[in-house]
Amino acid sequence: KHRVFSGIQPSGTLTLGNYLGAMKNFVTLQDEADCIFCIVDLHAITVPQEPEKLRQNSINLAALYLASGIDPAKSTLFIQSHVPAHAELGWMLQCVAYYGELGRMTQFKDKSAKKEVVTAGLFTYPALMAADILLYQTSLVPVGEDQKQHLELTRDIAERFNSKFGDTFTIPEPFIPKVGGRIMSLEEPTKKMSKSDESAGAYISMLDEPSVIRKKISRAVTDSGREVRYDPAEKAAISNLMTIYSLCSGKSIEEIQAEYDGQGYGPFKKDLAEVVVAALEPIQNRYRDLLQSGEVVDILRQGAKRASEQCGDTLADVKSKFGFLS
Ligand code: ATP
Ligand code: MG
Repeated sequence: KHRVFSGIQPSGTLTLGNYLGAMKNFVTLQDEADCIFCIVDLHAITVPQEPEKLRQNSINLAALYLASGIDPAKSTLFIQSHVPAHAELGWMLQCVAYYGELGRMTQFKDKSAKKEVVTAGLFTYPALMAADILLYQTSLVPVGEDQKQHLELTRDIAERFNSKFGDTFTIPEPFIPKVGGRIMSLEEPTKKMSKSDESAGAYISMLDEPSVIRKKISRAVTDSGREVRYDPAEKAAISNLMTIYSLCSGKSIEEIQAEYDGQGYGPFKKDLAEVVVAALEPIQNRYRDLLQSGEVVDILRQGAKRASEQCGDTLADVKSKFGFLS
């Protein structure tokens, strides 16, 4: 049985990209694997966050996990800062990772470009992510394609530690969906959809009202021509919209292509909006109920307790191998 770990930052409201690339797969995996899902607030503060907003985003993200189908009876769901082992091992792995390899991370280059201030945490963040994963002897990490490089670094760090100190960490494999691993921005289809994008028109939030979803999709950029054809190289925008359509409706790309043959972008976009609304509405309804029930905080406390137990032995083992006095 696989041990699965994955995290999402409470850095804003989740987008359709986060849902289709990551969260939807968490729900599938929880029936066949031993899953741990984390709200990675320590990662969120690598860029400035409003304290009140961060608190609210953390609760909201927990409610979204639950509303999407994460069942606390099957999976561990918790907040990263509630389990100090993450910060502890995160520091230790900063002392295993190399400055040079952190400097090659493309996410760091992207997120630090044109910024006036760049925190040291934004630079060392992949070592904390490695700690998150390695603490639980994780074998499988469901993530979007943008996290592939960080996962390779995690494997390198684990192998380096194991070869110096003896077998300690399981070497994790990424689990990246072939379709939906990289949902693109609705405004710039060469850029990935991100919840921290400055332009709200670039993403569909999982909590957007139906009217907002319809408006954003009708305004989404398209390619020249009018053919609804899947061709990521020549028709990046429409191919992205077709991917979203396919994942939200369960129809294959071929079926969609046949259905809209000769119809142009207009009818396709109109139906796409309804397909997305239909996929998100039940989640949004459960989300509202959950927030009102007031049970989310309790679930997170329980989750943190369980996570601490699940990672205790590994943390103690690493400390002892480094030579820390017990
Ligand atoms: P931020 O811009 O703050 O980094 P984000 O949208 O990238 O936000 P994360 O919390 O960093 O969200 O990532 C959560 C998960 O969603 C990760 O597994 C990541 O790979 C996945 N993910 C993020 N963006 C996309 C996307 N556009 N398509 C598919 N998966 C994505
Ligand atoms: Mg991200």
